[in-house]
Amino acid sequence: MKYINSPIQEINFENHNIYIKRDDLLDTHFSGNKARKFYYFLKHDFKDIKKIISYGSPQANSLYSLSVLAKIKGVKLDFYVSHIASFLKDNPIGNYKEAIKNGANIIDLSKLYDEKIDILEYIEKTILASEKSAIFIEEGGRVKEAEYGIKILADEIKTWAKENNINDLNVFLPSGTGTTALFLQKHLDFKVFTCTCVGDDEYLKEQFLKLNSDESLHPTILKREKKYHFGKLYKEFYEINQKLLRETKIEFDLLYDSLGWLTLKKSSILNEKKLLFIHQGGILGNKSMVLRYKNKYFK
Ligand SMILES: *Cc1c(COP(=O)(O)O)cnc(C)c1O
Repeated sequence: MKYINSPIQEINFENHNIYIKRDDLLDTHFSGNKARKFYYFLKHDFKDIKKIISYGSPQANSLYSLSVLAKIKGVKLDFYVSHIASFLKDNPIGNYKEAIKNGANIIDLSKLYDEKIDILEYIEKTILASEKSAIFIEEGGRVKEAEYGIKILADEIKTWAKENNINDLNVFLPSGTGTTALFLQKHLDFKVFTCTCVGDDEYLKEQFLKLNSDESLHPTILKREKKYHFGKLYKEFYEINQKLLRETKIEFDLLYDSLGWLTLKKSSILNEKKLLFIHQGGILGNKSMVLRYKNKYFK
């Protein structure tokens, strides 16, 4: 597997010149921010570990990235989900389809979910207790090991800025768990801005605090124009995604990046210093999203 420094490209969007860190191009199979977050596991010896255990959505980017990691490492992947939509089961697509191809074992816990049993607690108490040679990776890769790969991302940005005589810069990336934004700010002197895509700003702040109790080292959260529910379809998300594609020829992710760009447009950030937007991958996940959008809005 090649793991190169991803390129930084300058684009023009709505008459703003913006730099894009193309982490979506890191590698065809192991790319985006999940590749950064799981890089530690890629580089370190698994010793006695025979299985990776994780959980989340059956369409998650982390499911696919973990399936690639498991394949490279020659270990199993047990990925627990609380529900699999019937459309997905009947017509596998995107992350779900490719993860199965890579041999991922996707385990549906909807029965427990219906009985209102706490799934995380169930995994920790029942499953992990009986698995001797497994590592557990929290949903979305919210793990301290993520710092290792994200520091490399920060170092790449620093080197690029130095080589191009850029002394002042704002950095932006949309957040899920906030792990990437937090560690990026920790290792960069430039100011890192983000926005909440999952839950509300309070949730994101809590996630930051779990990883670093020093609030002065947290990324700055830009206010969203309105509350959005993660994974729901919003026409404006699809529209800005298509506009970006037309104007920049770059495909951005529909779950996080669309909200990221909409938030950026409403902020004053685009009119301040030069901006570096971190493209965190997730394009494989667009496949099922595009189908859902077409079904909902363009039939
Ligand atoms: C996982 C993911 C995110 C969120 O990353 P966090 O570190 O959890 O904030 C953002 N964008 C894409 C494309 C992702 O796959």
